Amino acid sequence: MITLYNTLTRQKETFKSIEPGKVKMYVCGPTVYNYIHIGNARPAINYDVVRRYLEYQGYEVIYVSNFTDVDDKLIKRSKELNEPVNTIANRYIDAFYEDVGALNVKKATSNPRVMNHMDDIIKFIKELIDEGYAYESGGDVYFRTRKFEDYGKLSHQSLNDLKVGARIEQGEQKEDALDFTLWKQAKPDEISWDSPFGKGRPGWHIECSVMAYHELGATIDIHAGGTDLQFPHHENEIAQSEAHNHAPFANYWMHNGFINIDNEKMSKSLGNFVLVHDIIKEIDPDVLRFFMISVHYRSPINYNMELVGAAKSGLERIRNSYQAIEERETIATNIETQDHYIDEINQILDQFETVMNDDFNTANAITAWYDLSKLANKYVLENTTSTKVIARFKEVYQIFSDVLGVPLKASNNDELLDEDVEALIEERNQARQNKDFARADEIRDQLKEQNIILEDTPQGVRFKRG
Ligand SMILES: [Zn+2]
Repeated sequence: MITLYNTLTRQKETFKSIEPGKVKMYVCGPTVYNYIHIGNARPAINYDVVRRYLEYQGYEVIYVSNFTDVDDKLIKRSKELNEPVNTIANRYIDAFYEDVGALNVKKATSNPRVMNHMDDIIKFIKELIDEGYAYESGGDVYFRTRKFEDYGKLSHQSLNDLKVGARIEQGEQKEDALDFTLWKQAKPDEISWDSPFGKGRPGWHIECSVMAYHELGATIDIHAGGTDLQFPHHENEIAQSEAHNHAPFANYWMHNGFINIDNEKMSKSLGNFVLVHDIIKEIDPDVLRFFMISVHYRSPINYNMELVGAAKSGLERIRNSYQAIEERETIATNIETQDHYIDEINQILDQFETVMNDDFNTANAITAWYDLSKLANKYVLENTTSTKVIARFKEVYQIFSDVLGVPLKASNNDELLDEDVEALIEERNQARQNKDFARADEIRDQLKEQNIILEDTPQGVRFKRG
């Protein structure tokens, strides 16, 4: 039985899917005008773990996450770079897949893009206008917030509270300061689409309502995103969707906490903006992922090198213990006297499931993994090794690895040490002497992949790192 904290009710609830055995999940995705920063990596990783655990519990998960591929930031960037919006979006969508792929995030069932759903968005807005929930004004279309009586239910604010902070910006012709934009009239030099309301483009909030409806239907099981999206983005999504679909939009709302950089808020002005694309060149992405899930998803996380270093050594401890178990496999025999170890392993698996069932507490799940690794280290000191015990250890390590998405072995693209390079150069020299040019070229290419450049000098072949 899985319980999860539902932002909508502000309490932990037992999870029950709409259709048995199937979970429909929607996670707000990035605006693709740049590489993703570490704050975008957190929801990508955390909700990937949620998905993996639901799958482990036997659910089929339909996981939808959008790309915002047209908005003010993309238009600004397009002007700066003198490139079409679409070219920039395509570039950063490719980079997104590359970066989250390195972080072992499973590919979404679907990643809808605004540009591919323009007709659906226009139709949805038109239907909201027909029902009196939206209106055209001065080339824009606005949502009539007061008409949706439940407005504020997610962020737990009343319309009167909200009214205090609401402003009508210059150029907006709203009936009420609380109304928000569904369709923005195009400025002369901006990318735009034809619509019954005139040339323009969608406001930000409408895309998620439309894509969730299009991909998953009127009501979804879990809607997730960062805490900062709770208001107004998710509140507006609820208003649009429930007004349009005449059904609850999402049964469970999950929100992940902020990420701070060395105890400071991440911001461009502080110059502490960490892009995943850059950081995974310095930090093993497996370590970065392990670090991210070492804190419960609703708690804030503090990113600094010391804490990442601690995660690195923690992961190494787990991996070393797994390797020790694997090494004993070859000498294992069918002995029956060690079955109490199997009971202990099973208890740790129970512990893992109990904490994951409790609002996906990955921090405690990692504690269970450490416990397994301690038990493994104790076991390998035994004089004899049981095939059954080794097999059970390996199965449970694999479960933890699959659910948390952290591989049991480090990938092989670790940088070559100088001595490895020297050995390869020597092997290449030998290959050339033996006229085995294929092997010689192979080695040269392998070194080139690692940015190692070979130079023929009077003293023989030297190398430098590029
Ligand atoms: Zn959204």
